Amino acid sequence: MTQSDHNISPAVPLAVTIPIPAHWQQMARDKGFRLTRRGADRYQIMLKCDRCGREHRSKRNVLMDHVPLCPHCVKDRWREDAATAGLEWLRRDPDHHRHGFYRAGCGHTIRRQFGRVRQIARGEHALRCETCQRQREEAEACAAGWKLIGPAVDRGPNYRLYRHSCSHEQELARANMQSERISCGRCGVGWATAPSFLYCMRFGLPNAQQMVKLGYSNNPRSRLHHQLMCGPEIGGAILRTVAVSTGRKAQSLEKRMHGALKRAHPNAIIPPARYRAHLRVKSEIYDARLEPTILAMLSQLGTDPSV
Ligand SMILES: [Zn+2]
Ligand SMILES: [Zn+2]
Ligand SMILES: [Zn+2]
Repeated sequence: MTQSDHNISPAVPLAVTIPIPAHWQQMARDKGFRLTRRGADRYQIMLKCDRCGREHRSKRNVLMDHVPLCPHCVKDRWREDAATAGLEWLRRDPDHHRHGFYRAGCGHTIRRQFGRVRQIARGEHALRCETCQRQREEAEACAAGWKLIGPAVDRGPNYRLYRHSCSHEQELARANMQSERISCGRCGVGWATAPSFLYCMRFGLPNAQQMVKLGYSNNPRSRLHHQLMCGPEIGGAILRTVAVSTGRKAQSLEKRMHGALKRAHPNAIIPPARYRAHLRVKSEIYDARLEPTILAMLSQLGTDPSV
């Protein structure tokens, strides 16, 4: 042997050549694995999963004291849960071991806990993309003449901080922003005193009955496009608007008209379950058979000088 041979590390680690004790093999079998070989040192082992047939590196004490988890099966499970939840699995979050990144149906990347994705897959939780949600809320605010700044600090999760076109910032309930029932604390411009419109809109879902909606808004067009319709699958059109001197007056007229329609045509009210996923509305939606009735009511109001 020459001097230089002492400095050459062996090609095969010594640990690999040590026989694997029979009780390790048994322990692996009991826990759903085959112990195929040793790893780089005496404590490392290679386990082959009975379920998926793939190998992973583990440690002797993990096998002895715990139930080893096959990382390949775990990853398959994340992928399957994602697919069932309507998501595409992208990758783990390197900083948080319980979180992963996914691509949502809208195309945005979202980050969720694995357990939460499993709940979504089981239908126990709805998936809400934060980016889409933010865009929706920005559009709602814009339609009402405000700008969304962010979450409300003082007033809880149902409120947001908004900035009015006069630059005044105020916390308002999001529901009120959606229905435009808001007033600016500084300049006093608000829905109750501002001019408004009564409107009749028609909505259609593919392969479903046509529906009509009666309502009021200071901006029916933006209300239709930025607030009411949830997705491109629903077609919507404004059939008629009638200018009303103030929001307050429009509100009371709308209430009276809904009262009359519900009394005279109770069977024309469409159950919310049929459109809830497509339309964000709170008041009644009617079968399109009522369209001529509603249009006639609006025409009559249109000729009333007190409106
Ligand atoms: Zn496996
Ligand atoms: Zn999105
Ligand atoms: Zn203002």
